[in-house]
Amino acid sequence: MKIHNFNSGPAILPQIVIEKTKQALDNFNNSNLSILEIGHRTEKFIAIIKESQNLVKRLMGIGDDYEVLFLSGGATMQFSQIPMNLLTTEKSAAYCVNGIWGKKAAEEALLFGNVTIVSNTADKNHTYIDSNFIIPDNHTYLHLTSNNTVEGTQWKVFPNSKIPLIVDMSSDIFSKKIDFSQFDLIYAGAQKNLGAAGVTLVVIKKDLLATTNHSIPLMLDYKKHSQADSVLNTPPVISIYILYETLKWIEAEGGLAEMEKRNLQKSELLYSTLDSLPLYKTYINKNDRSLMNAVFFIENKELEDLFLKECKSNGFIGVKGYRTVGGCRVSMYNALPLESIQLFCIFLKNFNFKMN
Ligand code: PMP
Repeated sequence: MKIHNFNSGPAILPQIVIEKTKQALDNFNNSNLSILEIGHRTEKFIAIIKESQNLVKRLMGIGDDYEVLFLSGGATMQFSQIPMNLLTTEKSAAYCVNGIWGKKAAEEALLFGNVTIVSNTADKNHTYIDSNFIIPDNHTYLHLTSNNTVEGTQWKVFPNSKIPLIVDMSSDIFSKKIDFSQFDLIYAGAQKNLGAAGVTLVVIKKDLLATTNHSIPLMLDYKKHSQADSVLNTPPVISIYILYETLKWIEAEGGLAEMEKRNLQKSELLYSTLDSLPLYKTYINKNDRSLMNAVFFIENKELEDLFLKECKSNGFIGVKGYRTVGGCRVSMYNALPLESIQLFCIFLKNFNFKMN
């Protein structure tokens, strides 16, 4: 049976990335050694890091005023690493809480400085994006989550911020064309659109890097990582390699414009199908719907359980919603083919008609 992988992360990877990784597991770049066996400071691996940094810059259309780092600890580590580097007890940071990940980020920041929640969409279960708030210009930075993986909302236009704008792009990085120069720090765990778990992409403007706090542990210090060009210690070699192959795939397929075209096609088909069938309920404000994670519900719990069971038995994997939200969620990251959504839409229609 063909499996359609709608997992939210770790998630589907392009087949070619898996093939290239298999080759590298066998014999990395004609070294007669596996990628698992090579030294992280060898010329051949340093070349992978350098080229991955260049690929990130090319895809983002950014120049040498940004530093590209490959760090560990997932996006969750960034929730603490950002305030550790940028906040002190005398300073304040502004946070948008549009979902559980933004809330966690704000809670971590509170350990290091003052936090102002400038926007909180908990009043309507995070079913919308609130971009109507005042950004306090005496704050050190503004933090937001560009795509709320769990709730299924996504920022379409980012706030015009005079203070540094920091964005958690874990679940929609490189899914569409945007002006990356509006951001001062972007971070993303790799396990959705960038490859496999184990590495976190951090892109930071050098101006902001210059303001970071120095009395913090070595492994958490952005400046130290930047000075060591992301090999401050032994990095997750295999995860960086998979990231490199994924970035190459994005570029070879036509870059962010092509990813956007595909992602729009998939999400428009899925949402229009859901909207046309009375069994499925989507509570997200239509303009704020995520192109990456579609969240929907079947109001009758028994029917929803049956639906999820049938999803699995038909090869549609990962449809069960996040544990605190419930319902159903279909994740449509870059590597998911349109065909998976087309077949899923037929399945949605058939299940709807069967139950009516
Ligand atoms: N931010 C967002 C938007 C996420 O979706 C996730 C994970 N799904 C995280 C942060 C946490 O990421 P990690 O598990 O890499 O720490």
